[in-house]
Amino acid sequence: MRFSNDLIEWYHPNKRDLPWRDTRNPYHIWISEIILQQTRVNQGLGYYLRFIETFPTIEQLANAPLDAVLKVWQGLGYYTRARNIHQTAKFVVTELGGVMPNSYAELIKLRGIGDYTAAAIAAFAFDEPVAAIDGNVYRIYSRVFGIYAPIDKGDGKKMLRKIAHDELDKNQPATFNQAIMDLGGQVCLPKNPLCESCPVSSMCYAFRNREVDNLPAKAGKTKVRDRYFYYLLIRLGEFTYIRQRNAKDIWHSLFEFPLIERSTPLSIEEVFLTEEWLDICGSGKVEITYVSDEVKHLLSHQRLFTRFFVIEMSSSSYLLQKNFMKVPVNGMAHLSTPRLIERFLAAEPAVKYFTKGVDF
Ligand code: SF4
Repeated sequence: MRFSNDLIEWYHPNKRDLPWRDTRNPYHIWISEIILQQTRVNQGLGYYLRFIETFPTIEQLANAPLDAVLKVWQGLGYYTRARNIHQTAKFVVTELGGVMPNSYAELIKLRGIGDYTAAAIAAFAFDEPVAAIDGNVYRIYSRVFGIYAPIDKGDGKKMLRKIAHDELDKNQPATFNQAIMDLGGQVCLPKNPLCESCPVSSMCYAFRNREVDNLPAKAGKTKVRDRYFYYLLIRLGEFTYIRQRNAKDIWHSLFEFPLIERSTPLSIEEVFLTEEWLDICGSGKVEITYVSDEVKHLLSHQRLFTRFFVIEMSSSSYLLQKNFMKVPVNGMAHLSTPRLIERFLAAEPAVKYFTKGVDF
């Protein structure tokens, strides 16, 4: 619900004022959705107003000659859309008594109405709790939930559709669907999204992990993903700091040290200048006692390049206390950690610099 609450709270003062949003008329909503399929809102707006002015009702559209419909459509391109609209209007008038079906299941049977359009009409006109899922929605959920499965493949789509269904606010499907469309159209843009002004940035995986440029993934484009990990093994007396991984990502629920992650490599000096390093190390006395060589670790579709930094501190920073668990260094031996960390802790440098003086 948090996603929905933050999204809808943002939407109300920021929503685009569009004529098809002021109506529950399924015919008008249908026309707007078909026009907007291949057309930007600014360009589509004039066409929508002209179309509705020329054919205010579905009967008037059904009774008009095809040429008249194509004339109004002229310049929009993809004329099959206009032909399908005209044929479907005739079908609704002759076979359904001029009444548009009022459910997703029936709407999708109509010619020219696909999954997205059927869901949009059902939600906007009839408040049916269905998610209208287009490229914007796939992109947003892939970024927010850190889904790397390609969005142009069956598995990725299936996963994201399930998320879209779960996240949909079933009490206000029309508002929710419009809000997520606006987020995709105004903020979570394919390139250079406006994360700083995004209402869901605090829960967005891609934003928090600087992965915005790598998500959504497309098949064949990111077959093997390179990730650069910089682990901070902190010694504060007999203690260290850890956290449990809980994102939908590798190593779910395993324990790890504070991590700085990038999708491109950093030099050692650049690591010291990262925001995370400065937050974690704070302003107390810090001594870096060891920096490992880069360790390469292979997973099925990922290559991890990792460095371990052993750091001695005299006091812990506020962010360290707030975001990590303080545990005895020797307690690490009893926790589930990724193999990468387990191997490092067993290696000589860790014994010499990190676990020195404790019975590990
Ligand atoms: Fe999209 Fe950025 Fe918002 Fe994440 S924080 S949903 S990437 S705009």
